[in-house]
Parts: sequence; structure tokens; C-alpha cells
Amino acid sequence: MTAAQTSAEKPLLTFALAALNQERFICEAVEAAFAQTYSPLEIILSDDCSEDRTFEIMCEMAKAYRGPHRIVLNRNPIRRSIGGHINRIMEVSQGELILAAGAIGSPHLLMLSGVGDAAALRDHGIGVVHHLPGVGANLQDHLAVRTMYKVSNTVTLNEQASSLAGRVKMGLEYLLHRRGPLTIPPALVTAFVKSDASRATPDLQFVCYPLTYDTTGDPPHRFPGFTAGICLLRPESRGSITLKSNDPFAAPAIRLNFLSTPADRATAVAGVKMMREVCAAPAMRRFAPVEFAPGPGYQSDQELSAGIGRIGATIFHPVGTCKMGSDNGAVVDARLRVHGVDGLRVVDASIMPTIISGNTNATTIMIGEKASDMILEDRRDGANDEISATH
Ligand SMILES: Cc1cc2nc3c(=O)[nH]c(=O)nc-3n(C[C@H](O)[C@H](O)[C@H](O)COP(=O)(O)OP(=O)(O)OC[C@H]3O[C@@H](n4cnc5c(N)ncnc54)[C@H](O)[C@@H]3O)c2cc1C
Repeated sequence: MTAAQTSAEKPLLTFALAALNQERFICEAVEAAFAQTYSPLEIILSDDCSEDRTFEIMCEMAKAYRGPHRIVLNRNPIRRSIGGHINRIMEVSQGELILAAGAIGSPHLLMLSGVGDAAALRDHGIGVVHHLPGVGANLQDHLAVRTMYKVSNTVTLNEQASSLAGRVKMGLEYLLHRRGPLTIPPALVTAFVKSDASRATPDLQFVCYPLTYDTTGDPPHRFPGFTAGICLLRPESRGSITLKSNDPFAAPAIRLNFLSTPADRATAVAGVKMMREVCAAPAMRRFAPVEFAPGPGYQSDQELSAGIGRIGATIFHPVGTCKMGSDNGAVVDARLRVHGVDGLRVVDASIMPTIISGNTNATTIMIGEKASDMILEDRRDGANDEISATH
């Protein structure tokens, strides 16, 4: 979403980029804008989205809207889009553009648009708009080490989800009573703990699920089990997002580089040992937990270090690839403006210089809130400058 302003009296709101393919977000954003005092409201759509659901929604909303504001459906694109997928940022003609494609999408789009490491861009035949080597670097994520246990004397999601009868039961429970497994989040138990008591704050999060599976996307196991996940909250490892090609539809290379420092491996090993203590506690005895991943064969630090590599996975918290700062690796400044490129901000999880030590969604929402305040402040300041310059 970009907030642009043609004059001090007529603030202009422009919705763009990631919002385009998010029906609910668009409706909420438009409604929120109506609740403010913006007028007119301009919605920029790409030139080829006439059959796009987004355009239909906008037309419907424009027709239905009877309030004091004017909706301009501007079909003059500031970027090219195919089927709602943004390929590259072409130019910022008026106001500014807010890039909010996430920690994978934002650096990818910047690189496709010529903003990134100059040599890497040239290797892929992309003209360099601005050499910014930090784009796509500094990737951080929370590694989840998924230790898993078989259990007895209880029911877990595994058995319910792996039989047709169980799935029907869960569906009916939800449809008829709005209760049951379909109404719960997967992680039912979480705890923030210190891998070492001398630490000032927790560096591990325990995240426990009443189900087990081999890898994300696989069906759950058929036996009763639970996952006792250990999440590294303050990883030292840094990965990257780089181009594989200049085709905007080709996914970029995502290198997470988990466990690439000795400290991260030591923290993960300490976490697994602590989790084993928890699962061996008297309160757990009635469920007779038996660890099957990494498994009892992994005991020494060296064995565990190898074992956790096998059961480690992302917990889907990528950040840091367009980091805020003023050093050579920084991509945006403290007001989230892209260094060296006028009229372009990045507003998403990619701007975090260092990953937060908790789940990333709420912080990303706050980044959006803070950014919208800064955008409006900058608009007001710019408008005031313009007014004083004319006197
Ligand atoms: C499976 C999963 C579970 C999660 N669970 C939790 C949780 O329990 N708690 C928590 O706090 N966080 C959770 N997260 C993390 C949280 O969702 C993210 O931190 C947050 O959404 C990041 O927001 P963002 O705006 O940076 O990126 P996103 O929310 O990813 O938004 C980026 C948007 O840009 C769009 N986009 C990207 N490229 C293009 C393009 N080229 N053209 C058009 N559109 C494009 C994408 O489709 C997407 O809609 C989870 C994430 C995942 C994936």
C-alpha cells in the first residue's frame, strides 16, 4: 500500500503490490481508508488485470460506495503484473511505492528490478539500477528441531487425521458444535526457556504439537504421537536469497544455512537435552513417551548435533533480507526507504536487521503500522515544505 499525496488538501491513497492478490486484505484496507479522511482514494491496477478478481472487487466496491470519497480506478500501471503476480517494479511515477512481498518476495522483486548486487544482477542479464549488495543477504529464520515421541494411553491428532472415520468425526464436530481439533491451533504448548541459566533472556522456545509427521506436507503418522519442537530464537546463522534466473516466475534460491555456527549447534543440542528431561518427568509417565526422532541412538553432543540436522526444519519465520540500517549491508534506512532509490520503501518482515526472539507475525504488523505513520508524517512534512516553498 502506498500513500501518495498530490497536494496538502488532497491526500491520495494508492493500494498496490502485495495487496493485489489478497481479496480480504483489499476490502479491509479500502474500508479502513474510507474510515480515515483520505480523498480521493486511488487504486492502481495493472493493465492486464481486467479479468482479475481484484479488479472486479474494486469495481463492485466503487459502485457500492456512497460515502464522501471518490474512488479512482487508475489503470495506469506503475509496474507490470501478470495474473496478479508482480514481475518487477518498473518505475515510481507519482508518490511512492511500497514493496511488501515478504522476506523472500521483496528481495527477489528488488533484484529482478535491478536493485541488488551489481555483479550478480549482470550475471543474470539484469540492468543495474542501483548496486545494493545487502539485498537478499542476512536471511534469518527460527530453526525448529522436531523431536518426536510415540505415546500410549491417550488420543492424538495422528490417529484421528489418518483414518477416514476420524476425519469425518472431526468435520462433524466442527460443523455441528464448532468444537474439536479443527478449532485449535497446532501448537498447544509453548514455553520460552534459557539454554543456559546464565543467559539474561530465553534463547529457546519449546513448541509442542499433538501430532507427528516426517516432513512438512507429509501425512501424520498412524500411531499416537506428539512433536516436542525446540526452536532457536536467537540464531547466529545467516542465509541468503539469490537469483536463479531473471524469469520472475522462477523461484529464487533460498539458502537458510541453519546450524552453520558452532554456537547454534550447541544451543540446539542443549535444547534437545532439556526437552528430553521434560519428557522424562514424572508427570509424563502415564503417557509412556518413547522418543523416535532423533532417537535414543543419539546421545553424545556430536551424535545429537548430527541428529538435529536430520530433524531440523524452518518454522516459517524468514526475515532480514532487506535489512534496515546504515552499514554497507543495509537495504533500507530508518524510515524504510530503499537506499539509493527514490520513492521506494520496503515494509515487511524483510526489514528486521535481526530476527526477533518470538513469532514474527505481530512484529510484522507493527512494522506496517509504524511505516504507515512514517509515510503520512513524511507526506505532511513534504507538503508543508512545498507550501512554504511557494510563499
Ligand atoms: C505456514 C506458516 C505458519 C506461520 N505461523 C505463524 C504463527 O503461528 N505465528 C506468527 O507470529 N507467525 C507465523 N508465521 C509467520 C508470519 O506469517 C510472517 O512472519 C508474516 O506473515 C510476514 O509478513 P510479511 O508481510 O513480511 O510477508 P507475507 O505475509 O508473506 O506477505 C507477502 C505477500 O506478498 C505476496 N507476494 C510475494 N511476491 C509477490 C509477487 N511477485 N507478486 C505479487 N505478490 C507477491 C505474497 O503472496 C504474500 O501475500 C507463519 C508463516 C507461515 C508460512
